[in-house]
Formats: sequence, C-alpha cells, structure tokens
Amino acid sequence: MTDETASLARPLPWQKDVWDSFNRAVEVNRMPHALLLHGSNGVGKRRLALCFAQRMLCLATVDHYACGTCKSCKLLLAGSHPDLSILEPAEEGKKILVDDVRKLCTKLNTTAQQGGWKISLIMDADAMNINASNALLKSLEEPQGKTLLILTSDRLHALLPTIRSRCQKQHLPVPNLDIVTHWLNEVTGNSADVSKAIEVSNGCPLLALHNIESGTLGMRQDFESVIEGVASGTLTSMDAAQRCAKLNGNNIVDWYMNYLHRLVTNEGQGGADLSLFHFQDRLISARKLLLSQSNVNQQLLLEGLFMDWAQSSSAGNN
Ligand SMILES: [Zn+2]
Repeated sequence: MTDETASLARPLPWQKDVWDSFNRAVEVNRMPHALLLHGSNGVGKRRLALCFAQRMLCLATVDHYACGTCKSCKLLLAGSHPDLSILEPAEEGKKILVDDVRKLCTKLNTTAQQGGWKISLIMDADAMNINASNALLKSLEEPQGKTLLILTSDRLHALLPTIRSRCQKQHLPVPNLDIVTHWLNEVTGNSADVSKAIEVSNGCPLLALHNIESGTLGMRQDFESVIEGVASGTLTSMDAAQRCAKLNGNNIVDWYMNYLHRLVTNEGQGGADLSLFHFQDRLISARKLLLSQSNVNQQLLLEGLFMDWAQSSSAGNN
C-alpha cells in the first residue's frame, strides 16, 4: 500500500463538478455498481477514484468528504481498510493478470466487514489482458448489493466494449490552461518550469507536475535538442542515438510523438508538411515493435528513426 492510499485525498480543483454530481447520485441512492473514469494521462483520474472511495467508506462524512476520524477513516489512514481493494499494474507497461482480478472479484462479492460499502478500484484498467477482462465481466454482470467498482483508463478503446458498456462512463477532460497554470504555480511554489512542463504534458496537470518533480523535464529538453540537432544536420543519426542510449525506448517514442504533435499543431495554420504525418506512422510502428518484443536493439531502432527524421525534416524545409 502506497502513502497515497494511506492518506485522505481531496478532489482536484477542476474536478468539482464531477465530484458534486457523484455526491448527488449518492444522496438519491442512484450510484451505479461500476464507474469508469477516463481521460488523458495526468488529469487526475486516480486521485478522484481514491477520494470517492474514501468518501463512500467513511461512516460520518463532513460536507461529502471523508471525516478522517471515524473507525473506517482510521482504517483507511492505516492503509488497511478491509473493504477497499486496489488493483493496478505492478509497474508501468505491465499487464493486470487474471488471478489478481479473480481475487478482487471474490473480495467484492463477500459481505462488507465494516457493514457499509465494498469498493474495488482498478487503475489503468486497459492493462488487463483478455482473460483478466473476461473474469471482471462476470462480476459486472452480477453486481451485488452495496458494491462499487471504479475503473480508470487513459485508453478507453483498449477496454473490451462489453466492459465499457457495463460501466457508467465519466470523462475527465484536460482542464483549461489558466486553471492548470495557477494550480501548478501553487503546488510547485512558482517553479520556472511550469509553462514548459504544461507544454510537454499536453496540458495535463499531474503529468506536468510529475515532469517537474521527477527531473524528466530536463531529460525531455535534452532529447528535444537532440532531435532538433538531427533535423538541422548538426548531429548524425548515430551520434544522436548514442546520446539517447540511457533513455527508455517507450519514453522516447512518447516524447517524440508529443514533440511532433506540437510541431504539426503549430504548423497547422499553414498546412503541416505531409512528411511529418509519414514520420508519425514511423513512430507508431516503433512503438508497436517496442511493445511486442523484449529484446529490441534500441541503438539500431533509434538510428533508423533519426535517419528518417533527418529526411523528413529536410523534405519539410524544401
Ligand atoms: Zn470517516
């Protein structure tokens, strides 16, 4: 259990409307058995799921928030509430497996030990493999009394349609730029990196915060200077690939995609060059290769990518 789950969460400022609508549903006894929170990585789906689970388990809510002092909240704060289970990939990019989903479903279908709700959260639910998804479906088809299952997902299309259709879907959009900037300034103490972090995080506040706090932002800026070097011809593809040797291949592809997206958006007014779209396809193939094989030669893959990038860039300049 992480520190995050052993503290009482509050919804983020831009989640107020969704939070209010959930609470209205609780008041009139219209809570669904399964909720699916979806939206881009870094909009706060996980935070909202945790916060709502805590609110549902609390025995004496104050203004719809978990009180922090009842028996149930004390169990939550100790990270040992028997009626809350949380499932998520063991690490980024890993699958959620069928045995874990079966255990979660069994737990969800037994009587609540604290006499209230039983709540299960599946974070990054799109990471369930097909067997895991099928195991979950059974639980979704036969919901029991006071049970609530909350799924979160960045990639709605990657979930089985039968799972999507059995959940009440709640989209969490990317909040507006002013709200994100204000919030990030507040939590980082006006970090100088705020606007760059928002830019490389597609406006998603928690991802931007992660980029600032983890030092990833600096790595991304170095990476962008490498691809700009390749584009301008000051760096060979081999040297560029060597400079990226210590970076994670999947991250590189994500960063590259984001860079390209900004490039296309900025050039969008005058019509982005076709070669940029071809290069985007090239990145999608690289991502598939990295996901399907564990022993990809990253140096060779990157050299190939950078070679095509140099060509795309020079085609774009002509
Ligand atoms: Zn409480």
